[in-house]
Amino acid sequence: MKSQYVIRELVKNEPLILLKDKRFNTLHPIKCSACDNKDNFSRRLFIVEVEPKNVTEDERQPILMDYLLHRYQIQSAFFKNSKKKNYIDTSICEKCHSTAIIYDIKFDSAMIDEIFKNMELGDDKKAEFFKKFEEKMTHFE
Ligand SMILES: [Zn+2]
Repeated sequence: MKSQYVIRELVKNEPLILLKDKRFNTLHPIKCSACDNKDNFSRRLFIVEVEPKNVTEDERQPILMDYLLHRYQIQSAFFKNSKKKNYIDTSICEKCHSTAIIYDIKFDSAMIDEIFKNMELGDDKKAEFFKKFEEKMTHFE
């Protein structure tokens, strides 16, 4: 890993605070790709404290993934930001200890209301629209 990067794992209550940010946690672990466990995940969150400027996302992510794999044996990760800080979101399956976890977006009712705020649809139309929308969402691996 190039020395221009400084990554630190969040500790103590830092992960809890970050995960309370609904926008941050919208994309979250839903399934272990090794054992199909859907319920028990441990999150490991990292903050990218220092990194070079003028690096494209296409260049940046492989460098960080390579670091995570070699330093922490983490196979999949999601790159997020919150309040102008860059984070890496990873999970471990508590059943089989795999780190190849599938993430997806789950909308709660407040977010659905936000989406439909300016749309004049009846409740049954909303449900129908939302179902189709959710089916089209891609799963991230
Ligand atoms: Zn598993």
